Amino acid sequence: HKQLITTSTNQYNVFVGNGIIENLADYLPKEYQNIMIITDSIVHELYTEDVRKYLPQSAQVSVSVVPAGENSKSIEQYYHLLTEAIKNNLDRKSLIVALGGGVIGDLAGFVAATYMRGIDFVQVPTTILAHDSSVGGKVAINHPEGKNLIGNFYPPQAVIFDTDTLKTLPNIEKRSGYAEVIKHGFISNEAFLEDVLETDITTDIPPMKLNDHLQKGIAVKADIVEKDEKEANIRKFLNFGHTLGHAIESELGYGNITHGEAVAIGMLFAIEVSEATYRISLPYQAYYHWLSANQYPLSLPPLSVQNLINRMKKDKKSENAMVQMVLLKEVGSPVTETISDQDLTNLLDNFLGKLG
Ligand code: NAD
Ligand code: ZN
Repeated sequence: HKQLITTSTNQYNVFVGNGIIENLADYLPKEYQNIMIITDSIVHELYTEDVRKYLPQSAQVSVSVVPAGENSKSIEQYYHLLTEAIKNNLDRKSLIVALGGGVIGDLAGFVAATYMRGIDFVQVPTTILAHDSSVGGKVAINHPEGKNLIGNFYPPQAVIFDTDTLKTLPNIEKRSGYAEVIKHGFISNEAFLEDVLETDITTDIPPMKLNDHLQKGIAVKADIVEKDEKEANIRKFLNFGHTLGHAIESELGYGNITHGEAVAIGMLFAIEVSEATYRISLPYQAYYHWLSANQYPLSLPPLSVQNLINRMKKDKKSENAMVQMVLLKEVGSPVTETISDQDLTNLLDNFLGKLG
């Protein structure tokens, strides 16, 4: 299965399917003589050999491995990878292969975006979350002062998503990734959402179902980023659940909750705020039940409402003093809304109290 994505600077295909890594060489848009694979320590053990095997045999291939985890989205690892690229004689006609989850996609993509003013790269995602991060062209590393502060819009030449790699994904990473799948459901389409809400992700997800959800999620993201590549307007809808999610993530400390688990709670809050603001009813209960059945953390250590609100204000996506959130008028109809501090305090107090 493939989807074509059009950006302001190029067009690229997103290939999704079981075992498609075997066709890797065919999916590359042109011939490359020098290829550098960038991966993390865990994915390296599992999949580098396969990827190497299916790259064109005529190419010179090198591999650079960074430690697994968010900490590798650092200026130090970025600098190290640039040094590796120079040592491996990569030039403007070379290719970088980002093999891994969102951390590797963001990091290797930023290396590709800046090495010699930009060389080609392809994404070979290996996490569910990466159905989101590998599409849309955002690449970045972190600064100690904040996540993704150093980055660019730099689309890949192709995304090659072999969903067989997801079989080795730990449950906690499945949960993290499925939060973004369900986000794509909430902001696009009730039938898609309901199908995800009927899926048990704690055991092996039938491959057909998993592929279907990932393809649909990618289609939602692709549609939005094609219309608004640089986040002037509707791309903001992809931040559904992220305003509070990011605040929880940074308040608890990265590594203490996954991105998706924090966003899952953020979406619950956004649904509650939507219901209160528009006096409508959304599938809060069904969603809460699905989260609980799939072992998402739903109670949090005590958090200060004021600290969370300060963090929500700092979120680079809110433009003025008041917090802006993505809400739903109904499933599939996201809107952005500015919430007064007073309302937000009351809503958040009540929400956190209820979660316990
Ligand atoms: P990740 O890349 O750290 O992967 C999670 C963990 O799973 C890591 O320990 C990794 O080694 C391991 N892993 C990866 N693939 C595996 C496999 N097939 N089998 C077993 N283990 C595997 O994290 P992630 O959740 O994929 O991505 C999170 C990152 O993505 C964050 O840095 C976030 O900022 C970024 N992100 C970017 C965008 C974007 O648009 N660019 C969007 C969303 C998130
Ligand atoms: Zn996210």
